[in-house]
This record gives sequence, C-alpha cells and structure tokens, in this order.
Amino acid sequence: MDLDTPWRELVAARQALAYRMFGGLCIEGVPLVQIASSFGTPAYVYGAGTIRARLADLLGAFREQGLTPAVRYAVKANDHLAILSLLRAGGAGADVTSAGEMARALAAGIMPEAIVFSGVGKRRCEIEMALGHGIGQINAESAEELAVLSAIAVSMGKFAPVALRVNPDVTAGGHDKISTGRAGDKFGIAFDEAAALYRYASTLPGIAPVGFSTHIGSQIFSPSAFEAAYSRVVNLIDRLRGEGAVISRLDLGGGFGIPYDSGPAFPMPAYAAMVRRVAGDRCLDLIVEPGRWLVGPAGVLLTGVTLVKLGVGRKIVILDAGMNDLIRPALYGALHGIVPVGMVASSKPVTITEVVGPVCESSDRFAAACPLPEMAAGDLVAILDAGAYGAVMSSNYNGRLRAAEVLVDGRGMTLIRKRQELSELMRDDIVPLGERAPA
Ligand SMILES: *Cc1c(COP(=O)(O)O)cnc(C)c1O
Repeated sequence: MDLDTPWRELVAARQALAYRMFGGLCIEGVPLVQIASSFGTPAYVYGAGTIRARLADLLGAFREQGLTPAVRYAVKANDHLAILSLLRAGGAGADVTSAGEMARALAAGIMPEAIVFSGVGKRRCEIEMALGHGIGQINAESAEELAVLSAIAVSMGKFAPVALRVNPDVTAGGHDKISTGRAGDKFGIAFDEAAALYRYASTLPGIAPVGFSTHIGSQIFSPSAFEAAYSRVVNLIDRLRGEGAVISRLDLGGGFGIPYDSGPAFPMPAYAAMVRRVAGDRCLDLIVEPGRWLVGPAGVLLTGVTLVKLGVGRKIVILDAGMNDLIRPALYGALHGIVPVGMVASSKPVTITEVVGPVCESSDRFAAACPLPEMAAGDLVAILDAGAYGAVMSSNYNGRLRAAEVLVDGRGMTLIRKRQELSELMRDDIVPLGERAPA
C-alpha cells in the first residue's frame, strides 16, 4: 500500500494496524468501523496478538543473550484483568503500586511470588496484605520504610523479602514528570546511602534483604542511560558482596520507550546485550518491569467526530473523546498520532487540523496541527498508541462516562469493559437527608 499520506506512514509503522482496501483501518485484521458500530465511541481497543508478540520479543531478545529475566509487568500502565490475564498466560508476573493493583494481579491468577510491590508510600494495610499473600518482593525506598516493614513483618511472624530501590542519580526519561532517577526526585534511596542501608536492613528482625532495584524513568530510548544506572548499582552490589553480604536479585525497572511518531523503536536487542555486559556474569536473578513498552502500541482510542468547526485561521475537529479519556496530552504535552479510520482515498488532500476534545479546559487538545483528510461529523479517527496510561488514567471529569474497552483476539472482538452508564455516574454519591429533593 502506498505511503503517500502522513496517516498511512504512521499506520505502516505499527505492527497492530493496517489499512485494508475494504474496511478501512483494521486492528489485527478487525475493522475499527465494525467495532465502533458494535460498541460505540469513544472506545479503547486492544490487540491481544500484539501484546503476546511483544512479550515474546522481549523474552527473545534476552534469550539471545543467554538471559532469562523475570518479567514483572508494571500494572499501572494498563490494569485491565483481561490484559493481566493474557500477560500471565505468557509468563509475566506483576509490578504493583497499591492494594488495588495487587488485588487485580491476584485476581488475574498471577502467583504472589511473581508480584513485586513498589511505591513511595505503602500504607500499613497494604503491607499487611502483601505479607499475608506472600508477595515475592517488596521494594523499599527509605530507612523509615524499612523500620515499618520490619515491625509489621515481625508482628505477623513473617519476613519481608525486600529489595532496596536505589536512586542512581542519572537523568533520563522523556519528560520532566516521568523522570524518577535524579537526586531531586522523590523516589528511592540516595545512592550514597544505599550500602549502609542494606547493612541496616540485614540487621532488622523482619527483613530478608534480597537485593536492589532501580527505575530511572519512563519513555527512555537510549540503553546508555540505563547502563549508567545499572553500572552504579552493580558496583554497589560488588562492594557489598565483598563484605560478605548476600545479594541475589537485581530488579532493572522499566521505562523502555515507544515511538509515538514514526521514530525508531527502542533497541531491545542492544538493551539486552548491555544488560548481559553489565550484569550478566554476576550470578544475579534479573527482573524487568516493562509497562508502556508491552501494551502501549497494542491499543488505540477509537473516537468519533462530533463537529468540525471553523476557528480563526484553522479547522477544529471536535472529538467525542476528551482529556478525561486520555489525559497524556494535557498532562505531559504528549503527542499521539491521530489517523482516519474509514476508507480514505490516497489522493485525498491533507488538511492541517486542530484536534480537540469536548471538555471545558483549553488543555483538552490532542493536536494543534494534525495532518488529516477533510473530516466531517460522524467520521471516525483512531488515536494511536493508547494501550498504556490511557484507560487507567481516565476520569469522570465534566460528568463524562468512562469509555468502553474492547479486546481483539484472533479475528474476534470482545467487550471487556462496558461503557459506563449515567446511573453509575451518581451511584456512590450520598446526599444528606435534609438536602434531598422532594420525591
Ligand atoms: C512506572 C513504573 C514502571 C513501568 O514504567 P514504563 O515506562 O511503563 O515501562 C516500572 N517500574 C516502576 C517501579 C514504575 O514505577
């Protein structure tokens, strides 16, 4: 198929998507038009085959290097039970940040030993839940937290298997708000204090220290940023082992980038080779915690055009999806590709269009200048790479209903989350007796 338009180029670069002569844009062979007519818009649509293939590619890149790291999928990227279940079936465990995510991972059949509990502010009840279930690893972020963990574990007659999350003080991450490994970030233990803290952890009666973890940020493309962090942590491990410390695990974190444009992919083979070079001969059980990389490219936000309005000097396409459905553009200035879904003649002229949602905020804008064919009310577009940090970050802001979610698998499509209804919107509101409207 010819690549004469920007949207064809974007689609050609994505494994899950293709334009078909009849049917328009398809995800894993299923026309998105058909999904919209069955389930309405806006809807998140995920391709199961793409998620499975990406997990297999990740494991394959490491296998090439003779490594078999444990994959602990970062549930916060997309916490849907169907997604967790298919990743579990592919051999992945979970990295969770709350009781809610832990409950989801367990409900999806992920073994407690295959769950890592991370997070900068774990509550007592959450720690008790983790220890009660026998969660495989708790990543601790401070001396204060170690003391709390130990006390809770002792009171339950258990040992908390703890990795210390080290902040290696490297700058990485696609955006200020998704960098987590700089000295000034709230995450982790300062690198210079990590050795002392590991020795301290070994003295606590409720702690079974297992190793170190690090996670330097998200949307990172260069293996050398990771290498800088891992080298520091591996040096630390060597030093502590030299003193006789027992260290069995290195949790490498996640943060592997995905191109939201037509840019190059994250070089997973080079990353795996770097991991082998830096840590491969250290007799360490390795863990990776990918989130976005596994599920981001597998999903789109399918949305309809509500209205096309002529603004000052530009066309404005108003969608039925808004920032409450996909907040990344408003929150991080993220740019997602936006492509037409219906059949579009390749000769159609490209118009530069502003694309916005209906929410009453100026930041509810998906693109300031997006190349699209002439659009009209009722047309469909797909917002690309919305499988990660999409539905999970959605809200009811502006009284808007949570979107439907659909999973495409082997030519079939399944509604995996029904669109919220108006009655559900108010279900949990409690109006004091004296304020109730007369019946
Ligand atoms: C967010 C997070 C991840 C996953 O990040 P991605 O960029 O989605 O890969 C992994 N580990 C930890 C500790 C995280 O906070």
